[in-house]
Amino acid sequence: MGSAGVYCVAMNNAQQILQSVFGYEAFRGPQDAIIQTVIAGGDALVLMPTGGGKSLCYQIPALARPGCGIVISPLIALMQDQVSAMRQLGVRASYLNSTLDAEEARTVERELLSGELDLLYIAPERLTQGRCLSLLEQASIALFAIDEAHCVSQWGHDFRADYLQLSLLHERFPAVPRIALTATADERTRAEIILRLDLAQAEQFIAGFDRPNIRYRIALKTNPRAQLLRFLKDEHAKDAGIVYCLSRKKTEEISLWLQQQGFNALPYHAGLPPALRADHQARFLREEGVIIVATIAFGMGIDKPDVRFVAHLDMPKTIESYYQETGRAGRDGEPANAWMIYGLQDVIKLRQMMANSEGSEEHKRAEQHRLNAMLGLCEITTCRRESLLKYFGDTLPQPCGNCDTCLEPVDTWDGTEAARKALSAVYRTGQRFGVNHLIDVLRGASNDKIKQFDHQQLPTYGVGKELDNTQWRSVFRQLVARGYTSVDLAQFGALRLEEQCRPLLRGEQDIQLRRDVGGNTTRQQTKSVLPADIDVGLWEALRECRRLLAEEQGVPPYVIFHDRSLKEMCTVLPRTPEEFSYITGVGERKLDKYGAAFLRAINEYL
Ligand code: ADP
Ligand code: ZN
Repeated sequence: MGSAGVYCVAMNNAQQILQSVFGYEAFRGPQDAIIQTVIAGGDALVLMPTGGGKSLCYQIPALARPGCGIVISPLIALMQDQVSAMRQLGVRASYLNSTLDAEEARTVERELLSGELDLLYIAPERLTQGRCLSLLEQASIALFAIDEAHCVSQWGHDFRADYLQLSLLHERFPAVPRIALTATADERTRAEIILRLDLAQAEQFIAGFDRPNIRYRIALKTNPRAQLLRFLKDEHAKDAGIVYCLSRKKTEEISLWLQQQGFNALPYHAGLPPALRADHQARFLREEGVIIVATIAFGMGIDKPDVRFVAHLDMPKTIESYYQETGRAGRDGEPANAWMIYGLQDVIKLRQMMANSEGSEEHKRAEQHRLNAMLGLCEITTCRRESLLKYFGDTLPQPCGNCDTCLEPVDTWDGTEAARKALSAVYRTGQRFGVNHLIDVLRGASNDKIKQFDHQQLPTYGVGKELDNTQWRSVFRQLVARGYTSVDLAQFGALRLEEQCRPLLRGEQDIQLRRDVGGNTTRQQTKSVLPADIDVGLWEALRECRRLLAEEQGVPPYVIFHDRSLKEMCTVLPRTPEEFSYITGVGERKLDKYGAAFLRAINEYL
């Protein structure tokens, strides 16, 4: 790489580095303030949502300050890609972790000592070894960046014991600024990071949680496969995305079925052989348009910026999980879809799982509470984003305009009468029957089960003919979701009345229900890939050019250029290197390396 000195001397200005190295026009949100703090030698604690742009916050100070920036990251599997991405920009980056042999590691150490590195990624378990610390003491260090800083939290699920020792950085290197970064930001975790990493003096930068480019949509589950297929065909025919399912078996069935439908789909779950899992993950990163059908085992550390959709075929148990999983979409800031379908069966299944779960009463109550919040999000008739952000203690000044309820306001109807009939059917049949039979009673069906229990004699028999089967299911779903009735697992899903329903039955309370539309999403479509003004032929030609370059160098295509840059090329149609240099994501190095190839592709096409 050799352009070392250039960065330190001539470009010690953050704005200039942003443009010439990264090819970006302006800083996002608090990036500028964070970068200034660290360049000036101060410590910083950075809380930013996924895709917010945390990496620049240490990459730019590492280039602006003398010495090498040390990045501590627990995600060894990603270091290679992060380093390739940096090298593409002309930044002299390397990593030290257990995947290197002794000889390779020695080379990196030599480079560090002779000042030939701008950025060095180190795994925490390695950093805290005496040998590594004394190496660092001999080197010139620009800063320490502690990525995924929530790993110090002993209460979180990403806890890493090695992270606890990172407070020694402050003791051993008091003059070197430290920047800790995370997207997991509840109050308690934040306090723990400050305590354990000795960051009481650090300036705190807390960006909002919002991911404005993600469109949240939750539709009624009617025919899951058909709905998924329609969603993919209409909106994401060639896009990379993740489909989440609850069970391992289902991920395999769905991915096989998607393959038969012509999609490049692969399963991923904890039960697959490690080598196969790694292979599927690698293909997801390196090839374009791969769909991973996964359980929640897939995700931690998936740093792919161009995931265009996250689809849930099953409802997650908490809003935290939902937000984390959907957050893997659209890290590059381009439009992305968080699409979910859910129905009565999901509600019943999750309610049962909860009731069945181990743990103290207090723990169960907490879980119950979190599930209720998730169900509430599914059933609300107002802006989804508003409700999501509120859950995390954030506020939105106005409805977002980029979720299903904003785009297509939901109708509500006065369900008081229907709810009373439904609850009374539950009561009159002795709280021993599931939804299907209850609907038969309400609609006055005559079948064996009705006859067997003499249910045609009940006062509620046949009083609900005004609603069809689907509408009754919707009523029951909402009653269960809102806790008016519960599901008895010992009795095969029989519904029971809950205390809450008394005022409703006594006529002291009304209830507004959501009017479900049959999962039809046409009006909410985001063709996430291409805006109307883009020539599909040119777009494909540029993608092909990118694919070839990526293959040549053994890096994922997005490391060459993000979709955003390609789209801009399609609309701006640069004809000269100078024009090309104004495209977002084109810094000096990429102009040199790729300008000619893309200009040629554009020329040939035109
Ligand atoms: P995080 O680590 O917070 O999830 P990243 O650092 O990976 O986010 O950044 C997400 C994406 O946004 C990256 O592709 C990055 O290059 C891009 N990005 C970051 N800052 C800017 C900026 N100021 N202008 C344009 N793109 C940016
Ligand atoms: Zn909204």
